[in-house]
Amino acid sequence: MMDYHAHKPGPHGGYLCAVRRTDWEQVAAATGMIPCFGVHPWYAEQASAVQIAYDLDEYLSRYPKAQVGETGLDATPSHRGTLDAQELLLQVHLGAAFRHDRLAHLHGAGAWSKLLEMLQQRARNNTLPRVLLHAWNGSHELARAFLPLGAIFSVGVRELVHPKASERYARIPAGKLFAESDDDPDSFPQAVRMLSALRGDINVH
Ligand SMILES: [Zn+2]
Repeated sequence: MMDYHAHKPGPHGGYLCAVRRTDWEQVAAATGMIPCFGVHPWYAEQASAVQIAYDLDEYLSRYPKAQVGETGLDATPSHRGTLDAQELLLQVHLGAAFRHDRLAHLHGAGAWSKLLEMLQQRARNNTLPRVLLHAWNGSHELARAFLPLGAIFSVGVRELVHPKASERYARIPAGKLFAESDDDPDSFPQAVRMLSALRGDINVH
């Protein structure tokens, strides 16, 4: 299994997501990884939405195998003050992912319900790209609301050690839930083992 959400290249390959605009060249140059271009919601306020829209179109055209991310919303106490800027920038990323038919890597800490509303609105307008919800820690009921939108999910050790992990993850359909390393490439084998132990349908090899 490849790593479905990473910020550092690792031996297992997978999606390597930018965090800031200044990461994009490095992400594009990493070997053995699928580059993802985006600006993390933590840095949304410093980014120009117009410039990112322009740059995303350029980079996605230049790199046909690249995907979009990281983007999303963060409504935890230290970041909820910038939600307006985050929302605007998220719409820019979703629009680019839809036009170029790429997967968008979404962060949704403390904001899954708001994210669900935004994606449902796009589904009604027929402008919803494929989406991956990374570090997924919502309830199974919330996962069931995202599934009809075509969403897939990724989780790492941080999510898998939570006491509610089996309640949250054991019933997500096969082929919709994947392992991620996020900031720690060394944690990936453990994430795969834990996910496999929890579900029984994940191939460790
Ligand atoms: Zn991330």
